[in-house]
Amino acid sequence: MATFRELLAQTKSRIREVDTEQAEAFISATPNAVLLDVREPDDDAPVVVYCAGGTRSAFAAETLAQLGYTDVVSMAGGFNKWKNEGRAWKAPRTLTPDQRNRYQRHLLVNEVGEEGQLKLLDAKVLLLGAGGLGSPAALYLAAAGVGTIGIVDMDVVDESNLQRQILHNLDRVGERKVDSAKKTLTQLNPDVNVVTYDVRLGADNILDVIDGYDVIIDGADNFPSRYLLNDASLIKGIPVVHGSIFRFEGQATVFKPWDGPCYRCLLPEPPPAELAPSCAEAGVLGVLPGIVGSIQAVEAIKVILGFGEPLVGRLLAYDALDQSFRTFKVLRDPDCPACGPNAGEIVIAEYDEHCMPHRH
Ligand SMILES: [Zn+2]
Repeated sequence: MATFRELLAQTKSRIREVDTEQAEAFISATPNAVLLDVREPDDDAPVVVYCAGGTRSAFAAETLAQLGYTDVVSMAGGFNKWKNEGRAWKAPRTLTPDQRNRYQRHLLVNEVGEEGQLKLLDAKVLLLGAGGLGSPAALYLAAAGVGTIGIVDMDVVDESNLQRQILHNLDRVGERKVDSAKKTLTQLNPDVNVVTYDVRLGADNILDVIDGYDVIIDGADNFPSRYLLNDASLIKGIPVVHGSIFRFEGQATVFKPWDGPCYRCLLPEPPPAELAPSCAEAGVLGVLPGIVGSIQAVEAIKVILGFGEPLVGRLLAYDALDQSFRTFKVLRDPDCPACGPNAGEIVIAEYDEHCMPHRH
């Protein structure tokens, strides 16, 4: 009978061996490489080996037993029998070769990786507005592979939008903004399902529209919409990435319901109309929403993937004139009429210019 040394030599003569350096190169060059760990088992954890019909797994179970695994069984009938009997199973999800190529630079970042990319593909982000802020946010989220992007907008594309609303172009003037946005995003990334809401967001529909989304990007340009969104997102528990722009200044923050402050903690009531011109009246540098909307896209991805420090409880203020970014702490307001401990039940209703919460 052959000695162990002879047996090992014979075995090695029948297989291919690589050194550790070659193995490392092979693994990094072959994203679907399978690593099989057969170190000495640390415990007597039971192992169930299966194949398609139960033959290969019988041999594999015997080999594992020889290697010292004490509790190995082979499943007779294999996966085919399991499936035919209607037992639960699911295929392990992986990226397609096209997706591996498209998201290559994400896969190289540990914080994203394949798992994070699959998470982004499963994620649902709702954008309020396909305008200045919504344009860059939607473009980057679509490029990043966020699988579902909802867009709420009831406007049509006007030539005066093109100074900053880069989702649209001259051919789309007169078209519904949501349709123009969908065309641009679908051409950019076919992985993305764009859901359009060509409606005015109001008390009658907001809870239905935002339902099921993981994150909302607020690109609204008026106070009643922001307060309405705030109150509805508190009810649904959906984080809102807020952004606003004015002339050369932009702001961004993340409202994480019941965890960080909400919009009403930050701004209990809207400023008087003469101090807060609406976006239709106020001028803005065309590049500014590109910066703030991109920051909103970054925050949305951080909220989805859970890395870094999202702008929860912090207000980021950007000034294009002196190229400064400053962050200010924002605390939850114990007297907040929406999320404070003594605030009553939130009632969703249309807001007038005072935007105060309605009560039963
Ligand atoms: Zn609040």
